Amino acid sequence: MQNLIAPQTGFRGEVVAVHPKLTEILDRPAYANLSAVPGGVDLAVIVAPPGEIPAVMEDCAAGKVPVAIIITGGFAETGAAGRVLEERIVATARAGDVRLIGPNCFGVISTSAGLNASLGIGMPARGGIALYTQSGAYGMAAFTQSQEDLIGFSRVVACGNKADLDETDILRAFGEDPETRVIAMLLESIGDGRRFFEAAREIARCKPIVVLKTGRGEAGRRAAASHTAALASDTVITLSALRQAGIRVVDDGLTLLDVAAALDRQPPLVGHRIAIISNSGGTGVEISDLLESRGLQVPKLSEPLQAAIRPVLPAYGSAANPIDVTTEWRRFPEMYGSSLAALIDSDEVDAVVPVLLQRSALMSEVTDRVIAEVAAARARGAQKPVHVCWVGSEAAENNRRRLLAAGIPCHFWPARTAQVLALSAAVGGSEPRVAAARRIARPQIGVDGGWLSSDLAFALIADAGLPVTPWRIAGSRAEAIAAAETLGFPVVLKAEREGLIHKSDSGGVRLGLVRAVAVGEAYDDVANRLGATTVLVQRQARPGVELVLGARRDATFGPVVMAGLGGIWVETLGDVALRLAPFDEEEALAMLDELKGRALLSGSRGRPAIDRAVLASLIARLSDWIAGAPWLEELDANPVIANADGFVVVDVRMRVSAQSHDQAQSRSGTGGRTPS
Ligand code: ADP
Ligand code: MG
Repeated sequence: MQNLIAPQTGFRGEVVAVHPKLTEILDRPAYANLSAVPGGVDLAVIVAPPGEIPAVMEDCAAGKVPVAIIITGGFAETGAAGRVLEERIVATARAGDVRLIGPNCFGVISTSAGLNASLGIGMPARGGIALYTQSGAYGMAAFTQSQEDLIGFSRVVACGNKADLDETDILRAFGEDPETRVIAMLLESIGDGRRFFEAAREIARCKPIVVLKTGRGEAGRRAAASHTAALASDTVITLSALRQAGIRVVDDGLTLLDVAAALDRQPPLVGHRIAIISNSGGTGVEISDLLESRGLQVPKLSEPLQAAIRPVLPAYGSAANPIDVTTEWRRFPEMYGSSLAALIDSDEVDAVVPVLLQRSALMSEVTDRVIAEVAAARARGAQKPVHVCWVGSEAAENNRRRLLAAGIPCHFWPARTAQVLALSAAVGGSEPRVAAARRIARPQIGVDGGWLSSDLAFALIADAGLPVTPWRIAGSRAEAIAAAETLGFPVVLKAEREGLIHKSDSGGVRLGLVRAVAVGEAYDDVANRLGATTVLVQRQARPGVELVLGARRDATFGPVVMAGLGGIWVETLGDVALRLAPFDEEEALAMLDELKGRALLSGSRGRPAIDRAVLASLIARLSDWIAGAPWLEELDANPVIANADGFVVVDVRMRVSAQSHDQAQSRSGTGGRTPS
C-alpha cells in the first residue's frame, strides 16, 4: 500500500483499501468489500492470508474487477492442499471474468503510470525495457543494477505461480505496448512451449526479445533409447526453439540486462564488420580477437577511408582498423570525433567501438565529442550502433554516466564489449511454415504403441518422402538368399528382433555380402548368435558421409526435427541442429550451417560435395510429415548415407505413442493446454 501511494511515483489514480475490520488505512478510507467501493475498481492488489483469498476472489467477481494481482504465497508452490486452493481461486476468477496475476508473485510495475503494485522498494528509472521475471528478488536486483547503469524500464511483471496469466500472455502484452522497445525475460519454466514460440516468433520481427532461461539441469533427462532422445534433450530443444523464434538467448542475468539496455539505447547490429577507435594499441588488438572469436570481423579499411581519417592522426598513428590515436592526448577529442563520424558514415563497417581507456575516459571533452557525433549521426538518419568500451577509473565515472544518459552503451573492458555487441546482432527468426501438414494415419500396432518393426518404419519413412535403400524381410536362410538375389549384390544383412536397439554393438549388422553363400553364412551366424530368425536384407549403399535425421515429440514444444552428423559416432560427436517442425528449406539450410562439421558436407578428402539444397529439402519434407503425425514419439534415421548417388536411409527406428495419448493430442492440437 505504501508503494502504491508513495508521492514520488507520480501515480495519479485513486488508491483505496479494502479490509474486513478497519475503516481507515494509511489515512485512506477502507471499505468492507470491493462492491462497496464507489465507482468500481480497475485493479485489485491482494495481500491476505491464503485461506481468505477464495472469498476475496468472490468479492472481486461480484465487484466486476477486471484484473487482480495476488501477491500472497502459500498455494501450488507448497503442495497438494495449496494447489487445490489455487484451483478454486482460478475457477472463481474465470467464472467472474477476472484475470489473475500470481499468486505468490512480486507484482507489477508500470513506470509511465507511476504504478508500483509490487514488493519492490522504490521505482526503477523509466525507459524502454519491459522485464518479465519469474523470480521476484530478481526484479529487485534489476532495479539496483538499473541505478548503476541508468537502465530504464517501461514495465516489470512477475506472474509467480502463473495460475492464470503466464509468460506468453505477458509477452503478447509487451509486444503490443507502445512504451516497450525491448523485451527482457527471465524464464525458469515455460508452460506451453509451442504457444510461447508462436507468439515470440511474431513479436521478435518488430521488437527485440532477450531471454535468460534458467534451470537447464539435465535432471529430467530420460533414459535414452534413441539417438534423438539422447541428443535432443529438453534443454537443447528449448534453446533451439527460442533461437528459432528470433530470440536472443543469454546465459546470465547481468548479460540479460546489458543486452536489453544496449538494444534500448542503440539499433541492433546488422552485419559483421566492426570498427575500433582506441588510444591503446594493446586493447585494440584484444578486442579484435574477442570480436573475431564471436564471429564478427574487424576489416582493414579501404585506402580512401584511411586517407579520410589519417589527417587527424599523428604520423605514427594507424588508420587501418583498429584506428590507433596513440597517446597524443591533446588531440583526443578531434581524433575520436572525426574518425567516429567518418566510420559511422562509411559503408565499410556495421558498428563502431570507441575504446575509452584511462586518459580518454577521464577527458570530458572526449565524452562531449562522442555524444555530439552520435547525436549528429542519428539526426542524419544513420542507424549504425556505437558501443563504448570503457576502461576508466572512478574519477571518470561522471563521463560514463553522461554517455549512458545520452544513450551510448558503455561496457566495462573488451570482453564485455565484444559479448554484448555480438549478442545485439539480429538472430534469424524463421518464417512460419504455411503449407498445411498432411494428416498421417497412425500405424495399427496396438493401444500401447512402442517401437515399430523395421519393415513398417522403412515404409513410413519412404512415405515421408525420404529415399530408402531397397529392403526385404526374410524369415529363413533360403528367403534371405532369395531376397539378396532380387535386391542385387552387395547386400547387408541385419538381425531383426524386438528389443535389439543398437544392432552393430552386438554384431547384428553384416556388411559387404557379395555372394549367395555369404548371405547364407551371415544368416546362420546371426540366427545362432543372436537368436534372430527374422532378418532384414538391404542393398548396400556406396560409402559416403553418414548423416542423422531424427524427430521427437516434446511434451510442450510439440514436434522437433534434428539433423546432423550421424553414423555410429553420433552421440560422441553430438554435432546436431534442432528446429521445431514444420519449417522450410531455408531453415533446414540454416541447420546445416550450424554444424561444426559442416565442412564435411562441402566435400573433402576426394569425396564429392553433398547437394545441400537437396538435403535441405529432405529435412524440410520430413518436418512437414512429422507435423502431420501426432502419434509419432521418436524417429531416428541413422545413418542417412550421402554419396555420389545422392542420399539414402539405411537404418531407421520409430516409436509410436499409446493410442489414448494420440487421441488426446489430436483433440488439443499441439498437445499444449488450451490457450486462455
Ligand atoms: P545400428 O545403428 O543398429 O548399429 P545400422 O543399420 O545403422 O545399425 O548399421 C551400422 C552401420 O553399418 C551404419 O552406420 C553404416 O555405416 C553401415 N550400414 C548399415 N546398413 C548399410 C547399408 N545398407 N549400406 C551401407 N552401409 C550400411
Ligand atoms: Mg543406425
